Amino acid sequence: MDMSLGFEDILLKQDLDREDIKVLLSARGPQQERLLKRGLEVKLSNLDNYVHLRGLIEYENVCEKNCLYCGLRSGNAKVERYCLSDEEVLSCARLAHGQGYGSVALQSGERSDPDFVRKIAYLVREIKKIDGGSLGITLSLGEQTEETYRMWFEAGAHRYLLRIESSNEELYYKIHPRNDLHSFRKRLDCLETLKRIGYQTGTGVMVGLPYQTLDHLADDLLFFKEMDVAMVGLGPYIPHPDTPLYKLKDLIPPAEERMSLTLKMIAILRMMMPQINMVAATANQTIDPQGREKAIAAGANVIMPNLTPGEYRESYFIYPDKACVKDRPEQCQTCLDIRLAAIGHRILYNAWGDSLAFTKKAGK
Ligand code: SAM
Ligand code: SF4
Repeated sequence: MDMSLGFEDILLKQDLDREDIKVLLSARGPQQERLLKRGLEVKLSNLDNYVHLRGLIEYENVCEKNCLYCGLRSGNAKVERYCLSDEEVLSCARLAHGQGYGSVALQSGERSDPDFVRKIAYLVREIKKIDGGSLGITLSLGEQTEETYRMWFEAGAHRYLLRIESSNEELYYKIHPRNDLHSFRKRLDCLETLKRIGYQTGTGVMVGLPYQTLDHLADDLLFFKEMDVAMVGLGPYIPHPDTPLYKLKDLIPPAEERMSLTLKMIAILRMMMPQINMVAATANQTIDPQGREKAIAAGANVIMPNLTPGEYRESYFIYPDKACVKDRPEQCQTCLDIRLAAIGHRILYNAWGDSLAFTKKAGK
């Protein structure tokens, strides 16, 4: 960092380095407001005031993994496990289409057995049949082999979200068991594979983890840039009482601090990667009722309204007090239109809403 630079100069810099990012992450009061406004300005001049929707279908909560922070971990015996039927998934997708969402996101715990792999390929193909392929499909189904990723891509999925959770290997192993099933190296390889296959590849981190420092967060942002990803989803970490990481909850910043760090991360990343898609995570709204709008107003441009049938939602218990668990999709849409209009944004209906950073590079 050039020591003669003031806060305003850093806000206008093209290439932020680690020290610049740390200065911005430390901003408080009026400087923090200025940073968030800068995130918004950069977004509006690159992507206009559109918000893209992905109807979220939480396909199943069975998971082979044992991440130390997540309520769906295999070691949590308290969860009632479910898997949606084919018809339930397809009716969610038809609902998304009917509401003009343009895209769906299929998310679940991680499974890699042949039945699961074939089932997902089948569901993707069936979703693609709705109105001649008018729905875009994002998958968020964890680490898989290259063959599986290719099968799902050929079936019609074109975006994949796999958060790195933390780009710092040491911190990664503080929040995951240190074994082959939770290999940091494998996660990196998966991201590379997804990009090579041609997916619009997204990653992200949790903000406010135990032991996480501003250096870690600055490096996470540099990692996204270095990986040249098309999408990012980042949100505050929320301690779940039935997970091992919960015992470290006194080491993490208070909820408002995790929220404000998340907003600063979004604004800085928007400055660094002006044309990527960035999700306003539901976890934001869980911490702060205005959290999703605040994320949009700091530079995010994607929202994932939950379409999972009501009776299953409480079993997809990643973290406590998840927002919108009781909302019906129709309510959700009106509520979103109003909330977004109030902050000068509008939903782009009936469009896939691909990452501009990706489509430009691909020459589309
Ligand atoms: N199993 C897939 C995976 O891990 O990529 C997708 C589902 S997983 C539930 C989706 C995301 O939830 C994870 O990437 C993680 O960042 C987030 N998550 C899990 N537990 C969380 C917690 N306690 N607080 C905030 N986010 C959490
Ligand atoms: Fe499973 Fe994903 Fe939760 Fe890890 S974060 S336990 S892989 S659902």
